[in-house]
Amino acid sequence: MNQHDAQKMANLLRHDGWARADGAEAADLVVIHTCSIREKAEHKLYSELGRVLGRKREEPGLLVGVGGCVAQQEGEALLRRFPALDFVFGPQNLVHLAELARGARARVRGLRVDYDDDPQVRFELPELHPEFAGTSPGRAWVTVMEGCDLFCAYCVVPRTRGREVSRASAKILAEVERLAAGGVSEVTLLGQTVNAYGRPRPGMAAGEIAFAELLRRIAAVSGIRRIRFTSPHPAFVGDDLIAAYGELEALCPHLHLPVQSGSDRVLGAMNRRYDRKGYLETVARLRAARPGLALTTDLIVGFPTETDADFAETLSLMDEVGFTDSFSFKYSERPGTPAARRGLGELAPELAQARLEELQARQRALTLAAHAARVGERVEVLVDGQPGHERRQRSGRDPQNRLVNFRAGPDASAGRYVQVHVEGYTPHSLLGAQIGLQG
Ligand code: SAM
Ligand code: SF4
Repeated sequence: MNQHDAQKMANLLRHDGWARADGAEAADLVVIHTCSIREKAEHKLYSELGRVLGRKREEPGLLVGVGGCVAQQEGEALLRRFPALDFVFGPQNLVHLAELARGARARVRGLRVDYDDDPQVRFELPELHPEFAGTSPGRAWVTVMEGCDLFCAYCVVPRTRGREVSRASAKILAEVERLAAGGVSEVTLLGQTVNAYGRPRPGMAAGEIAFAELLRRIAAVSGIRRIRFTSPHPAFVGDDLIAAYGELEALCPHLHLPVQSGSDRVLGAMNRRYDRKGYLETVARLRAARPGLALTTDLIVGFPTETDADFAETLSLMDEVGFTDSFSFKYSERPGTPAARRGLGELAPELAQARLEELQARQRALTLAAHAARVGERVEVLVDGQPGHERRQRSGRDPQNRLVNFRAGPDASAGRYVQVHVEGYTPHSLLGAQIGLQG
């Protein structure tokens, strides 16, 4: 989501007459895009900002802005703390970036952290120029909703990205049609709780469609062969979404479904709105609808009060589901979150670190087993834009979102689909050869 926001920012500035610089050192305008999901991410801003503002002492004409979630969280305090900083804007105000940059040129300091009255305004952005469309030929991200209304105890997102707002479905479909006409065949729909899309919320047009219907309409767009989305919330995986997995061929057989913990006590304290049994039932129903569905997840270790027994339940849930991959994090206390307000603190750092390492070792074993099971299969790969070091070595993603490195034929150009025979694997990818080139 942040990468896509960065594309939108660069694109907005281009639209307003700015051009891409030859690296940050050569730029007249530097916009630092920030994340505050964990403390470590937030600290990166301060080291980077120190460096850039140091340069501004030598080059007073340099303009510097800070956007993203730390900007939203800190707001005016950032302008007070850094008098040379030109402007600050939160994620909902990305659409106003060009205006802020123009103000900065006229030596007006800017702060945009309030919400527009009409929440749809944030989605009204110019079409991405190919220079910033970025991911890889044939693939594109599409924002379908923003914000979050769920308030998990550890999470700063509802505070930084604001309340849940779904984008008008007509606008989403128009964007997908435009992308498909330009050669995009794989779209990844983005939202903090993407499958909550279409819930009646303030600022949403009446009679909007639900997420499963949105998927159906996108699947019907000519040229769209693969649909992915991230991140769904387990509490919103309803009958209609499960049915969509059985019906829509374009819906990729991979779901990133964050679970966070395998312990009911911890899930309750996190305010996750599902329990272990409910999560496992959802997984079983999804797999019944779409055999071979690969599941990946997010996990937090060391949530306050997590015991050895709670942690053991997370490990056993990982085994039970057989996650193909996971993102795992040590709990980090974030300002203003329910857990921080409860004054729960963090576990001893060594304990959290030891649990993280154990969990990651378990995941490595599960990933290797999942990869080993794929040897001998024939998979369809969408070739990405990065040719390998060796001649004819290419990579791409299979429908389950596994990275596949393979020996390619001359027709395996970026953005095309090829059939690959899986011959081996590493911890991070499947290895193979394009059909017709084996042996
Ligand atoms: N909305 C998604 C969901 O409900 O799972 C997740 C979005 S969040 C930006 C991405 C991941 O960051 C979360 O799934 C969680 O594992 C992790 N995360 C969020 N807050 C965290 C915190 N305070 N400490 C550690 N990890 C955190
Ligand atoms: Fe954060 Fe929970 Fe919302 Fe995900 S659902 S963004 S973890 S508050």
